[in-house]
Amino acid sequence: MGSVNNAGPMRVLVTGGSGLVGKAIEHVVQEEGGKHEEEEWIFLSSKDADLVDVGQTRAVFEKYRPTHVIHLAAKVGGLYLHMRENLHFLRDNLKINDNVLQTAHEMGVTKVVSCLSSCIFPDRTTYPIDETMIHNGPPHDSNFGYSHAKRMIDVQNRAYFQQYGHRYTAVIPTNVFGPHDNFNIENGHVLSALVNKTYKAKKDGTPVNVWGSGSPRRQFIYSLDLGRLIVWVLREYNEVDPIILSVGEEEEVSIKEAVEMIAQSLDFKGKMLFDTTMSDGQMKKTASNAKLRRYLPNFTFTPLQEAIKMTCDWFLANYDIART
Ligand code: NAP
Ligand code: GDP
Repeated sequence: MGSVNNAGPMRVLVTGGSGLVGKAIEHVVQEEGGKHEEEEWIFLSSKDADLVDVGQTRAVFEKYRPTHVIHLAAKVGGLYLHMRENLHFLRDNLKINDNVLQTAHEMGVTKVVSCLSSCIFPDRTTYPIDETMIHNGPPHDSNFGYSHAKRMIDVQNRAYFQQYGHRYTAVIPTNVFGPHDNFNIENGHVLSALVNKTYKAKKDGTPVNVWGSGSPRRQFIYSLDLGRLIVWVLREYNEVDPIILSVGEEEEVSIKEAVEMIAQSLDFKGKMLFDTTMSDGQMKKTASNAKLRRYLPNFTFTPLQEAIKMTCDWFLANYDIART
């Protein structure tokens, strides 16, 4: 069931409200005093509506009649799930996105903030990548299904503006992690999968099996920081063109450095093995946060080691309910 807060003129429907990013926004709004008095927030999970289905999408919009939508719901997974299921990532996400955007349009929603990802940028590119480069060439082969579906959100946003003047926009986060992530070892993203692997290795007295060489580089953003930024985008950012939400280029770390931070947080002193028979995926996708910095020069990101420690602490304290 979607949870509802006080009634008021701004009614925000968050699709994917039960996931990593959705839970972070819920925390920002409900626990950090981020909710304005006149606002009502509704956080949906797939149990409220399967958004692949247009009838269920319309029904849930009819039920809550939102004025604003934060659209997070997506088929999401780490590198290795993408490589196995490009077709499912393409079709499910195309349907979910079209159902949500078109239903929002039909029901007169004022603003939609959808979620792209920095992994959808062209594979062959110059660095740093910025918001103008989304459609400049094919995405990396490993996740082309997801990437093409996500790119179409940007195309669709431009078309809604051109034909109807809607200000539907999108954010582009880099790699996200935090409480409520999917910690599944096979399907999860790198940080969450490695938190779980390291936890198990410590318990069993075995080495941690890191997939790939450890040299690819990533910009990690803590979900709570991202949640605060998405709430800002909803309220203050009025462009249709998307905006990258990321730490700076200088904060990029190698997978090896990230695993070492996990080991430190979990006090793991055993061995780490790097399985180079497994794909490295994209070696880097360094994104510029210059546009964000022009709007918010003083926003402070949680330091990576601190954010990883908080994520590990959450995982240990919530092992029973965590997605593993
Ligand atoms: P997540 O933790 O896996 O959550 C996915 C959310 O989508 C869940 O609330 C899930 O509901 C919902 N959902 C999935 N399929 C659905 C369907 N058919 N109908 C309705 N709801 C459905 O993912 P996340 O990391 O929070 O991702 C949120 C957004 O951020 C996505 O658009 C993703 O592409 C984007 N993003 C993520 C990352 C990252 O590193 N995680 C990076 C860049 C962008 P249930 O809980 O009921 O399954
Ligand atoms: P990406 O950033 O879109 O490529 O997705 P991921 O979050 O899945 O990160 C993939 C990167 O982390 C690749 O370089 C992998 O080789 C590396 N990696 C190392 N160990 C793991 C693991 O256990 N799971 C995942 N998903 N990636 C891992």
